[in-house]
Amino acid sequence: MTFHAKFSGYADPALHAAGLYIGGKWQSGSGITVLDPSTGNLLAEVADPSIEDAQRAVDAADAAAAGWRATPARQRSEILRRWYQLMTQHAEELATLIVLENGKALADARGEVAYAAEFFRWYAEEATRIPGEFRHTPSGSHNILVDHEPIGIAVLITPWNFPAAMATRKIGPALAAGCTVILKPASETPLTAYAMARLGEEAGVPPGVVNVLTTSNPGGITNAMLADPRVRKLSFTGSTGVGRVLLAEAAKSVVSCSMELGGNAPFIVFDDADLEAALDGAMIAKMRNAGEACTAANRFYVQAGIHDAFVAGLTARMKSLKLGPGYDPETQCGPMITQNAVRKIDRLVSEALAAGARATTGGKPLTENGYFYPPTVLENVPVNASIAREEIFGPVAPVYKFESDDEAIRLANNTEYGLAAYIYSRDLKRAMKVGKRIETGMLGINRGLMSDPAAPFGGVKQSGLGREGGVTGILEFMEPKYFAVDY
Ligand code: NAD
Repeated sequence: MTFHAKFSGYADPALHAAGLYIGGKWQSGSGITVLDPSTGNLLAEVADPSIEDAQRAVDAADAAAAGWRATPARQRSEILRRWYQLMTQHAEELATLIVLENGKALADARGEVAYAAEFFRWYAEEATRIPGEFRHTPSGSHNILVDHEPIGIAVLITPWNFPAAMATRKIGPALAAGCTVILKPASETPLTAYAMARLGEEAGVPPGVVNVLTTSNPGGITNAMLADPRVRKLSFTGSTGVGRVLLAEAAKSVVSCSMELGGNAPFIVFDDADLEAALDGAMIAKMRNAGEACTAANRFYVQAGIHDAFVAGLTARMKSLKLGPGYDPETQCGPMITQNAVRKIDRLVSEALAAGARATTGGKPLTENGYFYPPTVLENVPVNASIAREEIFGPVAPVYKFESDDEAIRLANNTEYGLAAYIYSRDLKRAMKVGKRIETGMLGINRGLMSDPAAPFGGVKQSGLGREGGVTGILEFMEPKYFAVDY
């Protein structure tokens, strides 16, 4: 495996196993190339598993299932807690790996590691608080006892944009619930997942409880696993398009699905908003991860009275951002994940410009090495432009002017998505009233960041099914069992 020369000093060999991890055994190989998005250069090569490897992973998860399920909650909790501590101890190495394979700025990567580790701490705590119920039937005929049991083997599929956090947000609750898992990280960013599995081993996760394989054939490998009757759960984070395909596949064997899918977040700024606070929030909601976040503000709806000042302020802030490789400590906006991602952003911006929008900064991809798109602000964007319907997933802020609260609500809800939304207003009553009418799973009021392991994360409409995090996240990996009891 080769690493960028600049980072060979950082590279802790203990964390760079870069092979399949099945049944507690590491298997190196080749077939999947991992590129540095800031140069396009080869970073590392990892094994590309066969369908038989995927079946072996299910066998390993199955062999470990009974033992893990029978492990007392306190012990499962302590293993997760140790894993949290190891991630915290190795935070700098993990952040470096994220920067290398994903490209995000070092500050974003450090933030991600802290956020990711928190899911292990939170679920270490929740593992010991699994709820049950005892009730009397209304007729008095018998008692109702409800237990929660681990659902069974879970297949976890994660995207490249948060290589650590999307994995821990699933592994944490699954292990806390007593399930064994097979994690399939995105092929663009497998190194972080393998490094975390190494730390899990050190934390005491028994062989087969967590298995990791990335693949260049996600459809074939996943379908093979879903067809195995021992697999009872699919937890997917990724695009709505792939989510639809997987829901159809899971239907064949009626596998329980949790789906964290795409977003198209509106960011509504009312005339009475605190302008500086709204601009601070806008920069976080738009530029965390250079816009490559499902919760990223995708449409800025700004009321007429504050519109021009908001556009001027946002343009100044976006213009001042330093673009560069994520590992340069000065960088505030790193590269996009691939050249294809840059092409998609370019298409959306070009179509908006052709339809009458104006770029107040940026507006064209950079032609240097690496997959860079500059921070961009667009004003005068038609509300029906493709950029208002599709996820931009990049550092582009389209701004639309509105007049009334009803118009803002109508525009915000005019999408198939419903993951996140943001409202800025000094009038909390107004913000809450409008917020109640926005079709979304999560709403930031005078806040540009809402992700928190203790809160339920997820969307409505075509942004997903189920919730991750919070006190209910563990139940996604459990089945209620009802005992009708007479005594
Ligand atoms: P993607 O849907 O292309 O890929 C996600 C994962 O699915 C990857 O691991 C990929 O290898 C795998 N995959 C692709 N095709 C598959 C198939 N046929 N069968 C099984 N697995 C398959 O998404 P992406 O480009 O990696 O990530 C960006 C998307 O993820 C955006 O739409 C973003 O909004 C969404 N996302 C959502 C959340 C959330 O919590 N709602 C969080 C992060 C990202």
